[in-house]
This record gives sequence, C-alpha cells and structure tokens, in this order.
Amino acid sequence: MRIVKSVAAIHRVSRRLPRPLILVPTMGALHEAHLALVDHARRLAGPDGSTVVSIFVNPTQFGPREDFRKYPRPFDRDCSLLRTRKCDLVFAPAPAEMYAPDASVTVNESALSAVMCGTSRPGHFGGVCTVVTKLFNLVQPDSAVFGEKDFQQLVILRRMVRDLDIPVRIVGHPTIRESDGLALSSRNVYLSAEERTQAPLIQQTLREAELKIRTEAVRREALEKWMRRRIERGSLAEVDYVVAVDPETLQPREPTRLPVLLAAAVFFGATRLIDNLLVE
Ligand code: AMP
Repeated sequence: MRIVKSVAAIHRVSRRLPRPLILVPTMGALHEAHLALVDHARRLAGPDGSTVVSIFVNPTQFGPREDFRKYPRPFDRDCSLLRTRKCDLVFAPAPAEMYAPDASVTVNESALSAVMCGTSRPGHFGGVCTVVTKLFNLVQPDSAVFGEKDFQQLVILRRMVRDLDIPVRIVGHPTIRESDGLALSSRNVYLSAEERTQAPLIQQTLREAELKIRTEAVRREALEKWMRRRIERGSLAEVDYVVAVDPETLQPREPTRLPVLLAAAVFFGATRLIDNLLVE
C-alpha cells in the first residue's frame, strides 16, 4: 500500500493506477464502517482495478465551535487497518497542501444544503462539496463510495456531479451499526458511558416511527413531535432536528406517501450524532 501526502505527487501516482479506480474519502479515525466502504470499493474495483482511500480532516467543513482541533487523528493505526483491507493507495494531504492561503473558489449547492444539517451547520456542505471536488480532480476516480449514514451528503454529492458534469459515479453504502443499533461514527468515542447507553434511542425511535407509518395514517407534524419526545426520553439527549422528508428533495413529506426519509441529529452534551432511516 502506497502512502502519498503531497498534492503534487497524487496526480502523477493515481494516473498510473490500473482502472477502474475507486475512491473512498474519509477523515480518518477509521472504524468498521469505513472498512466496509473500503471492502465495497475493492469489490467495485475487481481484481485488476485500484482502491484509493483519502484521509483528510477538512477544516472548511467544520464550524468555528466544532471539533476540528480535537478530531481524532490516529494515522498509523488507520494505515495498518487499510493494509489489511487491500487498499492500494492512501492519500493523506496536510491542510496547507490542499488550500492556498488566498483560496477564493468554492463549490456550493444551494437547495439541498439549505435544510437539516445545513441549517445547524452553516457552511458545512460547501466545505464538503469543495473538498470532494478537489479530491475528484486530484485522484480522478471512476467511482467514489459514501455512506448512507450521511444521507444528506450523499444526495448533495449526487446533485453536484449531475449539475457540474463531473465524470464520477457516486455509490452509496448502507449504514453499519453496533449490535444495539447505534450507527458507527468516529464521534462515538466522545460519548460518556451514560450517553452511550442512551444513543441507540435515535435508531430505535426511527424504527418505531417506521412501524407507525406502516400501521397508522400518521401526519408528518405529529410524527416529528412524537419522534422528538421519544428520543428525548433519554435524559441526556437534546434533539437538533428530527424530520420526515422526501429522500430526493429533502423537503417535508407526509409519511402517507412513500418513500419517506426519517432523519435526526441529536446532541449528547457537545457530541452531535446523526442517523436516518429510509421507509420505502
Ligand atoms: P467520515 O470519516 O466520518 O467523513 O466518513 C467517511 C465516509 O464513511 C463517509 O462517506 C461516511 O458516510 C461513511 N460512514 C461513516 N460512518 C458510517 C456508518 N456507520 N455506516 C456507513 N458509512 C459510514
């Protein structure tokens, strides 16, 4: 497995990798969900193709009061894990490599980014779209794999490659969970023991809501209020948002019409967790 840290080298190196070339963008602190994405990339690449994992804690997608500085960066451990999963190349640039001090061009999506996490994290999706565009330009993959846990990100990136004619196929991968339903996340390590026992309430509630949708003619507003109350049964849980939306437009949708995406963001102390469930 090759490790490339310089922007100057990545173009040259990735151009020589056998195709198809599949990219998995990450911020490192890898866990089993990231590795499942890498395994999926390996399957898409086939025996002759190549897999590239980028590890970059992108400063421009963090808000001023978010966890950029303390975000875990266990780089050597990440590389050892990737070696066991037949990753061909790790691209791990330093922020100074990626952004000129006077960088002034960004990529912004303006409709899907205006709701849900976009409301609570202004600028976040602009940061994501810009860095993903740069990674696509640097690595020039045929496909890139993203997790459905970040459903809004996935929908926005699909819109971005469509609207900007970027020749990269965006592939979604199902959410990987702990046995109690909590979605794996690099941020789960911030949870106290008590917060950790309450965190599965998010997915539990979304599943109960799915049952409600399938068995009752429940209205959206009533369902959203109900979900909020259920999640906040956890004394340490503070709901940022919990919504029922159209999975393509992310606009509010009455759950009597399927498919509907149930999506939540919940604070446990300073830790913000997100999850979702697609009801089809
Ligand atoms: P991150 O390092 O958190 O930016 O995540 C890198 C990629 O892994 C993104 O495409 C995420 O959607 C994906 N990912 C993170 N957690 C999960 C999970 N529990 N299940 C599936 N994909 C995930």
